[in-house]
Amino acid sequence: MDTVLHYADQFLFDSLYAKIWPSYTRTIAGHVVSAWPRDDFWRVNLSIYIITVVFGLLLYLVTSTLSYYYVFDHDYMKHPKFLKNQVRLEIECALSAIPWMTLFTTPFFTGEIFGKSLLYGGMPKTAYDWFYLVASVPSFLFFTDCGIYWFHRWMHHPKVYKYLHKLHHKWVVPTPFASYAFNPCDGFIQSLPYHMYVYMIPMHKFLYLGLFSFVTLWTVMIHDGNACEFISHSEIINTSAHHFIHHVYFNYNYGQYFTLWDRIGNSHRQPTDEQYEKALRDDHKVMARQAYDANNIEGKTLGDKLKSQ
Ligand SMILES: [Zn+2]
Ligand SMILES: [Zn+2]
Repeated sequence: MDTVLHYADQFLFDSLYAKIWPSYTRTIAGHVVSAWPRDDFWRVNLSIYIITVVFGLLLYLVTSTLSYYYVFDHDYMKHPKFLKNQVRLEIECALSAIPWMTLFTTPFFTGEIFGKSLLYGGMPKTAYDWFYLVASVPSFLFFTDCGIYWFHRWMHHPKVYKYLHKLHHKWVVPTPFASYAFNPCDGFIQSLPYHMYVYMIPMHKFLYLGLFSFVTLWTVMIHDGNACEFISHSEIINTSAHHFIHHVYFNYNYGQYFTLWDRIGNSHRQPTDEQYEKALRDDHKVMARQAYDANNIEGKTLGDKLKSQ
């Protein structure tokens, strides 16, 4: 993030802040500079917030739109649980959640700028450095998958669910636009493992940036509903077919990338031809049964009293 901030300062924020809050005593090569120095705590916070909101919104809109038009199975929109104007509702929900999620996240990024995390830079020099860099990828995925599984499962507890996670399950048949259509606190809690990792375990800063972008893409991908993709039949990877089951059948597949923690936590449900075979997937009898099961399972799990609220 420090490299991103450096270039953002150079090409945008230095001139922007110089206009908003100019220094009357200092100039550089005849140019007015800002009275707000680059390393000021509040300037860093504001700049990081702006960068993250813009980057987050762009990544969400571009990847979800591409996935919606090129990957998402539009026949899902005939499902009885597909809401009227759902795509618009998902986009509105995500666009209002992202600025709040970013607000909660900004202190972690600011801490990284001020050297409080274990992120490191520079080119790897030794064989061990390279090994560590490569090993950081599975380590990060394993750690964050575990964290997300347990946070997600906790948010399905009847006492917690309606306050934090219910909004994301409004989309029983999600589109890629549902990927960030959360309550902002829910989205923030599920992103905590990413931030915790770099404050607990050393990681290269560019690898972190890359993996952070990757998890954003992954979150969109598991909401694309297209179970025909080549990895969807995997029993190890948590694919869009697995996550579709999570949205419909509620008590299964809480994981993010792998099925490991669902298997350990006894919540794994392997997709079947109902997700894989397009003819079966689009069959109106299958859809009607899924709609019945979705109401029934969620109602039973949370208690009918809560469901009717
Ligand atoms: Zn859930
Ligand atoms: Zn989801």
